[in-house]
Amino acid sequence: MDLYPLEEFKPPEVLPPTEDGKVLAPPQLTVAYLCGDCGAEVRLKPKDVIQCRECGYRILYKKRTPKIVQYEAR
Ligand SMILES: [Zn+2]
Repeated sequence: MDLYPLEEFKPPEVLPPTEDGKVLAPPQLTVAYLCGDCGAEVRLKPKDVIQCRECGYRILYKKRTPKIVQYEAR
């Protein structure tokens, strides 16, 4: 009779659901801005301070992204 570590064995069904209860952090929500002074591209997260990292200028323009069609598929 084989000794088998039954207590540590977990069937695949134990894995948490990914379809309903998504707990995973969303992919990096960075928005690309263009510095109004030096024109450098600045990527900011929603909570970041609006400020150019190159020159410190505080006026950034939102960069236009031509296509945002990512929520079509499901
Ligand atoms: Zn700048």
